[in-house]
Amino acid sequence: MKIRDLNHMLNGGKRLTSLLLIAMLSLSGCGNKETKQEEKTTETTEETTTEEQAETSSYTDGNPWMDSDLKENITEGLETSPTDDFHLYCNYDWLTSAEIPEGYTSYNTFTEVYQDITANSLALLQDDTMESHDAKLCQTLYNQYLDWDARNEQGMAPAEKVIDDLEAIANIDDLNGYLLSEDSDIFVSSFISLYNDAGLSDSSSYVLYLDGIGFTLGGAEEYTDRTAQGDAAYDAYKNLTVNLLGRIGYSEADAEKMFDNSISFETKLAEVSYTSGDEMSSDYIQMINNPYTMDDFCDEFTNYPAKDLIELYGYEDAKNLLVANPDYFQRLDEVYVNDNIEEIKDYLIVDYITSVASYLDRDAFDAVVSANNAIYGSSGATPDDENALAFVSSLLTEPLDRAYLEKYDSTQKKEDITEICNSIIETYREMLEQEDWLSDETKEKAIDKLDSITVNAVYPDKWESDFNDLELSEDSFLESIELINTYLGDLDVAKTNGKVDPEIWGFDILETNAYYDPSGNSINIILGILDGPFYNEDMTTEEMYGGIGCIIGHELSHAFDTNGAQFDKDGNLNDWWTEEDYQAFTDRAQKLDDYYDGITVWGDVNVVGEYVETEAIADMTGMNAILNMAKDVDDFDYELFFKSYARLWVESTYQESENYYLTQDVHPLSYLRTNVTVQQFDEFYDTFDVKEGDNMYLPPEDRILVW
Ligand SMILES: [Zn+2]
Repeated sequence: MKIRDLNHMLNGGKRLTSLLLIAMLSLSGCGNKETKQEEKTTETTEETTTEEQAETSSYTDGNPWMDSDLKENITEGLETSPTDDFHLYCNYDWLTSAEIPEGYTSYNTFTEVYQDITANSLALLQDDTMESHDAKLCQTLYNQYLDWDARNEQGMAPAEKVIDDLEAIANIDDLNGYLLSEDSDIFVSSFISLYNDAGLSDSSSYVLYLDGIGFTLGGAEEYTDRTAQGDAAYDAYKNLTVNLLGRIGYSEADAEKMFDNSISFETKLAEVSYTSGDEMSSDYIQMINNPYTMDDFCDEFTNYPAKDLIELYGYEDAKNLLVANPDYFQRLDEVYVNDNIEEIKDYLIVDYITSVASYLDRDAFDAVVSANNAIYGSSGATPDDENALAFVSSLLTEPLDRAYLEKYDSTQKKEDITEICNSIIETYREMLEQEDWLSDETKEKAIDKLDSITVNAVYPDKWESDFNDLELSEDSFLESIELINTYLGDLDVAKTNGKVDPEIWGFDILETNAYYDPSGNSINIILGILDGPFYNEDMTTEEMYGGIGCIIGHELSHAFDTNGAQFDKDGNLNDWWTEEDYQAFTDRAQKLDDYYDGITVWGDVNVVGEYVETEAIADMTGMNAILNMAKDVDDFDYELFFKSYARLWVESTYQESENYYLTQDVHPLSYLRTNVTVQQFDEFYDTFDVKEGDNMYLPPEDRILVW
């Protein structure tokens, strides 16, 4: 997880939905050469899956419910009752007919809505009548991506040139010479990522964030305590490396050795890096809160050219730095020496070729798809036009968002969603006022924070840049990528030491997701989620409450989960709790963790409560707020409400991907987002006549509602 990912998403790991989309995430502007952590997180290979299956024979032995997200668990004749397994009961028809599209790791409501938005976006990319600079930029890049004739003609040549440069490096001086030269390739790692973002202790000003590399095998823990997921990533990336380097003349034995050298170098850095568990814990914000001045940071290095690189990227004037993991940089400096030059070089070559492969010719692209399929259990590939769109969206986010708004008027949606958000905030206030376990002092601060929340609905009125100065290359796709990266890098550098403008959201509004941003103290209910079962104009009140209503409630709740609770009303990391109240709060969260810890997904695999704590709190609190609103609606149809809610979390996925969500994602598994949430509320018990002894039953004293 990058620091940037601290924004609480509705649907984190589900960004895996489109594998190619993940590959695109590796290229996120800023000239900061981010690495592809997410792309590379891991699963079991087909081989081990078969073995495991032979051992456990099936994954249907979950407790108290079978994992109905698993495609292989869903068979005919599983009809159940609302008192036994509410999620399966509501979604049985959907689950039995769901097909996971080619190249996707899962199919769910988010995918369905994503596909609607995708169809609209593709229509605009193919619409010649659109004249704006935004539309033209997006269309040019889209067409370059899809110009396979040109890409195939170039073949591996662009990569060969870079690898020749890297091969010529004989010692650390050469390496510094390469990394510090203006024409070092944007896909070559420099072991550091830098970008400006709102400060943790003063969210009104930009701070320069510094972070390290992402790891090939997934979480850093895979390098000290390898799991089947790490093994799968190891095999898939080794094969990919051999394939790609083989095409430019390396023998299989040489390529394999380079891959192992690369992993060996990553291990040196991984040993001191945060694990997936660290990143998912509520202490993570405190762990990364390490302020430095530029001099203090740069003075720590004797070998690694931190100061020169920061200058090369244009950030040398930054006054306030935030270093995610000082141990990482200390270790980097220790291992950045001539003794390790072979490993370092091999790391750079392997990392480079696996990063750039998606943007080379068809064979290289297909090899990346195969590697991802081996890791996530998926098969086939997503359609080319979708991949091209996802790529355009990742690099030209603002131009694409604006072109979309130009073609599809969304002003009514903005009005409607703003109004819904405001009425939910009203109810939320009443809910906070009634909390009997909070002192008046803390309650007042909580309500203050609620009242300060900014509602960012649908699309922003202000953008970071008009992109008017950006023109793409006439003849080369890779050159266009470089031009865009430089442009985005310049935009980020321009923020250095500046004030944060809260009117600029910094989110892709076409993403099928929603966010709470703790630094901005804002909820972001964006255009990309406002379709299908989440929201549409023909919905009844109950469907809307069970859909976008619960989503908005969820996002508001992040202001008061165990992460959000550490930030004050101005978005600053600041303790606003009395000691007793915070203790009572964490005790309640602990009870929730303990309950989740006791849920068996399959075999002897249980949920880790601590990982999913914040998102589970948000799901339940969101529903609590909406049920309070429902009290004011005449003849409210609770059955329809709960069923609409269950519909949000339909999911059909492969065991490999489910295992990934379980170990690397902060959201509870989808079937649990339905079942555990609804079983906290009297209204659910009354509506479906759930009684002691029923599988869905939880005695009132064991319920885990935090708020
Ligand atoms: Zn969330």
